[in-house]
Amino acid sequence: MAEVVLKDVMKNYGSLYAVNNVSFAVEHGEFVALVGPSGCGKTTTLNLIAGLIPMSGGDIVIGDRVVNDLDPKDRDIAMVFQNYALYPNKSVFKNLAFPLQMRKLPKAEIEAKVMAAAKVLDISHLLERRPRELSGGQQQRVALGRALVRDPAAFLMDEPLSNLDAKLRVAMRSELKRFHHNLNATVIYVTHDQLEAVTMADKMAVMHGGVLQQYDTPANVFGNPVNTFVASFVGSPAMSLIPLDVVSKGTEVALRSPEEGWELPLSPMNARKASASSNGKLVLGARHSTLKLHKSAAAGAAPGKVYTVEPTGDVTFAQIFVNGAVVNISLDPTVAIEPDEAVWIEFDQDRMHLFDGETTMALK
Ligand code: ATP
Repeated sequence: MAEVVLKDVMKNYGSLYAVNNVSFAVEHGEFVALVGPSGCGKTTTLNLIAGLIPMSGGDIVIGDRVVNDLDPKDRDIAMVFQNYALYPNKSVFKNLAFPLQMRKLPKAEIEAKVMAAAKVLDISHLLERRPRELSGGQQQRVALGRALVRDPAAFLMDEPLSNLDAKLRVAMRSELKRFHHNLNATVIYVTHDQLEAVTMADKMAVMHGGVLQQYDTPANVFGNPVNTFVASFVGSPAMSLIPLDVVSKGTEVALRSPEEGWELPLSPMNARKASASSNGKLVLGARHSTLKLHKSAAAGAAPGKVYTVEPTGDVTFAQIFVNGAVVNISLDPTVAIEPDEAVWIEFDQDRMHLFDGETTMALK
């Protein structure tokens, strides 16, 4: 297993920059998730690493080799796609053995490698079956096994769980995590599902419009998003983002609703951050679990109006309109609120996020 490094990687189709100056380093044995909405450039980035499409600029290093000009087969990587592309008429054993036969390895070695991979993936009892006699999750494991027998420098996976039903996806998520743990494999994994990334990856590369927004641990991406895009992409329900004005009165600093005129005084630390915003415009960010709901006006709380209420059993989610923005809040199921009811939302000064209203970058 080896490290994979991207340096200023570019891919353009005419004037469209599918991947724009992307740099990051995946360390040996790390599981990195490439995430972002449809069209952000994740698959293109993976295909560039695999060598399936030519780069427009930059360098890619796998292990100790610059692979820019190498064919996919010479890059020492294994790809796992969302459609497993198993050979329907071959048994599981033959599906696993095939890439090794192509390499003309001795029969005994092929058998040993197939048995070892089957053991890791717990499919030893399925080796004589054909793909159509397997469940979706089992087929997925065979596809992983076919990558595994090749003992590559890195595994590249493009939405490998997206064809599975919701329950199986969650189960396979745990299995992939174990697979990574057991093998200490270098894995680069494309998904549009931020939850999949947060739960499995050591690091996340969050992309938007071909540009890498943040490359960090899931905890940091969640806890310290660099801009409003990352803030709203990671976390479910999404972080609420409310555009407000910054007003100073002597030494005090407050946020004011441009639409409704109410004000929210800031703690000294937040006041210092807010004062650095461009033209006195900022975006207040808050995660649902940090907010408190009041039924009457309260200090440090902003007025809002209930839009929807969604009980889920052990927690109730509500959407509240505050200054024209939708605010997500999680509530104890015993709290009774109705659509259109007037409520007040209290923000936690220690856990709120402040972003520049013009650049969208986090204020520090
Ligand atoms: P998805 O989750 O929908 O697969 P993605 O993040 O993987 O999206 P890419 O497939 O990498 O996105 O595409 C990035 C951008 O490049 C998109 O705007 C896409 O339309 C464009 N693109 C990709 N391949 C080509 C191509 N061969 N020719 C022209 N444009 C392309």
